Amino acid sequence: SVKGNYVHHLAWYNDSMRNLLIEEQDLLNNVETSLANHEFEIYIQPKCNMKTGLIVGGEVLVRWNHPLKGLIPPTVFIPLFERNGFIKKLDAYVWEQAARWLHQRKQQGLSVLPLSVNVSRSDIFSMDVFAMIKALADKYELDAAWLEIEVTESAYSSRTDEIIQVISQLMNEGFTVSMDDFGSGYSSLNILKDININVLKLDMRFLDNNDRKSKDIVESVVHMAKWLDLKVIAEGVENREQVDFLLGIGCVYAQGFYYYRPMKLTAFEELIRDESKIDVRDHLNQKTLE
Ligand code: C2E
Ligand code: MG
Ligand code: MG
Ligand code: MG
Repeated sequence: SVKGNYVHHLAWYNDSMRNLLIEEQDLLNNVETSLANHEFEIYIQPKCNMKTGLIVGGEVLVRWNHPLKGLIPPTVFIPLFERNGFIKKLDAYVWEQAARWLHQRKQQGLSVLPLSVNVSRSDIFSMDVFAMIKALADKYELDAAWLEIEVTESAYSSRTDEIIQVISQLMNEGFTVSMDDFGSGYSSLNILKDININVLKLDMRFLDNNDRKSKDIVESVVHMAKWLDLKVIAEGVENREQVDFLLGIGCVYAQGFYYYRPMKLTAFEELIRDESKIDVRDHLNQKTLE
């Protein structure tokens, strides 16, 4: 009967919800301890110039090496931490790791590339992101040009005044600001009208569809970015066809598995030991790096 089905469905729903909640609670229980135990590890994914094939920078992406559950991807734990407020501690930790790494490389006279870090929407409302980033640049004696701050497009959906203020503070100070996942929402174009940024990161879903219409849209976005004097980087580039297409429409930068997957810091250090693979003075790094 319909009713029987409904009750059955409800029971199933409650069960799986309960499991989900238990699972979440499990993950969140000892999160302070997890941080102290260095269970969070930063990975770097290189950003490349598709014309030269050279590495021009890197994005810092966090991973959780959970002692019982193994490696947990950020798509699983970041949303939980955004809800329980822990994200600000984690992000502050991640940003500091990035700043310290840049500092150490410079101290040691080793090759070094500008890094970008992610800022969550809830960070902006729960702490002074500008003051935090500025304090890190001061503490680690970094020129602002070495740090890029990625703010995801979905962050702009409400309380835009606060977001605009943080972004303009960062840009005035010389930090690079990029809009992550551009094109993933419905108000992408409106946002560009209201907010000044340096870089558009094209959402990887843009590359999913191969039909003429989708391609025309990507091309228009790339042209529009040029008119607005924004750098563009395509995310999620996985094959040569995508590279050829993007170069053909004037998009020069990419971050994607076709070039490199996110890797441990030590692997990244090993990779850029070969200085012929990197270009610090690339156009994407629009400011002079010292
Ligand atoms: P994002 O900032 O847009 O980062 C890019 C994501 O795309 C990364 O996923 C990366 O591994 C993935 N990716 C790059 N190239 C390719 C490709 O060619 N194919 C495919 N299928 N995927 C590709 P990841 O590392 O799982 O991170 C997911 C999201 O989690 C990030 O998206 C970002 O929003 C968030 N995140 C990661 N680390 C942090 C962090 O430290 N703080 C905050 N607040 N968010 C973070
Ligand atoms: Mg990002
Ligand atoms: Mg993205
Ligand atoms: Mg994202």
